[in-house]
Amino acid sequence: MLLALPISGESFLLRRAGKNVLVDGGYKKDEIAHVLEHQIRDVQYLDVVVCTHGDGDHVGGLSALLEDWVGRVGQLWLPGRWVNVVPQLARDPAEFLNQLVLELDAELKKPSEEVVSMVRHAENEGIKHNDWRDTASLPETNDEPAISEWLDGYDQSLDPKDILPEPEWFHALRQAEEQLASDEFANRAFKSARRRVKYRQKRKSSGLEIQIALHWLGLIETAQAIRNLAVAAIRHKIPTRWFDYEGFAKTRKAAGGARGFLVPINAVEQATPPTLLARYMHLTQINRESLVFLAPPTRSRFGILFCADSPLGDGSDFSQSFLPHLPRRLRWSPIVATAPHHGSESNSIAYDHLQKWANVEVLLRAGGSTKQPGPTFLEQHRQLRLCTKCPKAGHVPMLTGVFAAAPYRWSNLIALGRRCDCSISRKA
Ligand SMILES: [Zn+2]
Ligand SMILES: [Zn+2]
Repeated sequence: MLLALPISGESFLLRRAGKNVLVDGGYKKDEIAHVLEHQIRDVQYLDVVVCTHGDGDHVGGLSALLEDWVGRVGQLWLPGRWVNVVPQLARDPAEFLNQLVLELDAELKKPSEEVVSMVRHAENEGIKHNDWRDTASLPETNDEPAISEWLDGYDQSLDPKDILPEPEWFHALRQAEEQLASDEFANRAFKSARRRVKYRQKRKSSGLEIQIALHWLGLIETAQAIRNLAVAAIRHKIPTRWFDYEGFAKTRKAAGGARGFLVPINAVEQATPPTLLARYMHLTQINRESLVFLAPPTRSRFGILFCADSPLGDGSDFSQSFLPHLPRRLRWSPIVATAPHHGSESNSIAYDHLQKWANVEVLLRAGGSTKQPGPTFLEQHRQLRLCTKCPKAGHVPMLTGVFAAAPYRWSNLIALGRRCDCSISRKA
């Protein structure tokens, strides 16, 4: 069973082989816990909680889930992009934020091309190539993504013991838990950093400078979400695994995860942090680098692709799909995919990648704003499309998803919740 939770932002619950997997946690504190307790009821243990990237609508609710939910979490899977900032954020958030504000001052004096295009990207959420990095500078390669041994079609479950040793640097943080900054100290540091940025914003007259300052406020919010989540993982002794996009981008070979159960499509599970860049580089969210995970199809389970905000490809125009070849006997096995970037038109190429890749029978959509979904999502057959809420139609969010009844046959797949009414405008 796959469910999209009726909360603000995006969060999916996969129930498979007796295990529960939560992918992303929406915007707000308390919302997931509330849905688990009042609408789903029998979930007291989440075997895996995944965060695909640091956008507020994906990460915002996760630390509260770890801290306050009555149930327990088995493992946490996080973006490798955060590896470089977690140690300082956990131990000395005040110094981290001090450096981040100094980076802002340098930008206000002399804006770098990189930051200017980041800010433009943030302004033009809806444009097609929504990436602030020049995607054309990526190496063009004709290599197909590696055929992975875990796509063997056999039913497998999650073995909690089958886990890489935690990376040394994170282990060191756990061992010296008493050196972590307290919540009170951290919250004060975040508050003061916000005040310093707002002060700079007020003093500035030019539009660009204000935009840069506002962008920095977003970075501080991301930093706080990352800090809270990492500290909660340490406090509650939750084994944590890191999935690095860069490692995939260089080799186009994904690796790690739980074989035959849930595996990364565009990341390598890693143990060592990459080299340190400027702090803001680690905090800026790049949709292209959203982690994508696949619960592989087998003879008795449908496959599930968690697309997050990814365009499902890289290179110029994101045209090189990174979806791996499925073995011939699984090619026609049905797949349920979550709507890439909430159905946003900026990720329209993802639907081409999906169609060429496999037999995608359902697109499950959650989160997003009234700007979403775009025309390409709406061109997909309506039978395929399910939505927790259709922002343009003004619906109240509803628990929505798919359920496969035994015996496994595609015709036994039952849609729960709501078909998409996004093309119906409230005004009409
Ligand atoms: Zn999103
Ligand atoms: Zn809809």
